[in-house]
Amino acid sequence: MRTFHLDRPESIPAAVRALRDPDAQVIAGGTDLITLMRDGVRTPSRLVDVSGLGLDRVDWLPGGGVRIGALHPNSADDPRLRAEYPVLVEALRSGASPQIRNMASFGGNLLQQTRCTYYRLPEFPCNRRNPGSGCASIDGDSSKQAIFGTSGSCVAVHPSDLAVALQALDAVVLVAGPDGDRRIPIDEFHRLPGDTPHRDSALRPGELVVAVELPAVPFARRSHYLKFRDRASFAFALVSAAVAVDQRDGVVRTARIALGGVAPKPWRATHAEQALTGRRLDSAGIDAAAEAAVLGAAPRPDNHYKVQLVRRVVRRALNELGES
Ligand SMILES: Cc1cc2nc3c(=O)[nH]c(=O)nc-3n(C[C@H](O)[C@H](O)[C@H](O)COP(=O)(O)OP(=O)(O)OC[C@H]3O[C@@H](n4cnc5c(N)ncnc54)[C@H](O)[C@@H]3O)c2cc1C
Repeated sequence: MRTFHLDRPESIPAAVRALRDPDAQVIAGGTDLITLMRDGVRTPSRLVDVSGLGLDRVDWLPGGGVRIGALHPNSADDPRLRAEYPVLVEALRSGASPQIRNMASFGGNLLQQTRCTYYRLPEFPCNRRNPGSGCASIDGDSSKQAIFGTSGSCVAVHPSDLAVALQALDAVVLVAGPDGDRRIPIDEFHRLPGDTPHRDSALRPGELVVAVELPAVPFARRSHYLKFRDRASFAFALVSAAVAVDQRDGVVRTARIALGGVAPKPWRATHAEQALTGRRLDSAGIDAAAEAAVLGAAPRPDNHYKVQLVRRVVRRALNELGES
């Protein structure tokens, strides 16, 4: 590992000032960044430790909704969060291990890097790690890669469970930076690769995530996260689904369906949402949503299985919601 300078700012403005150095990077729990630095994938000369900024609070907002600080741990599991935003707590609990969840933060989870093997091994070409070098996965193993939103430059999937749940909750990411504060809707926070896969989020240079806000939406309480993976724990999603519905008089008024493990960003399955809206949450409605969830899928030769898996995970997640 290369040597680096460690900054410990005591305020958000001081952190933003430290981040003016283009070679500086935020460190939160370090569960992803330190591994990348150890393996020579990331080589910042300056780390800005944001753990002393009081960003670990959970504040219930007077008008409804909740603001969760960027440094709040992924072990978040308090009874009110569980009751009002079940999909959030279920997604967090499906990730990593208890030890890692204790260290890992909300902000770090959203900004963790892809688990694509070729990204994490510097001996392989990777446009995301080294722009213009090529993509080893396109001619190599792409069995775990994306079926939506890929480009000729990158086919990697986004690994976060939390970010998928946030898509289903219409979350907003609160950011502080050299040009002031910004609010970024979660759907605009992660970027598709296009021909610049190294720019994977909407964060501008020098910006810091300070919190995530969850609005008081009518579909939040009836929400669920289902994750399908190679083994029952300590594994990233092959396919996951975050589902949420608001039903009145037996009819779905609003639906949210977001997918993980299938795209370079958490993937909002808007066709599936539309297919369910105005229908009953019965087997015909659920089948229609599951079928619509795969519209536009463009699998690679070795990951066709994900198309069928999406149908099944969406169907099962909605079924479990129906029973609740
Ligand atoms: C063995 C293992 C299994 C895992 N399994 C899962 C899983 O199943 N599901 C899942 O979702 N995740 C999983 N993870 C990933 C884990 O959740 C992330 O490593 C963790 O959430 C990152 O948070 P952190 O605070 O440690 O971030 P760090 O490692 O400190 O930072 C990660 C990135 O975020 C940036 N960053 C951090 N905080 C901020 C901020 N406030 N503002 C701007 N930039 C910031 C850093 O600069 C860095 O680029 C796993 C990790 C491991 C090691």
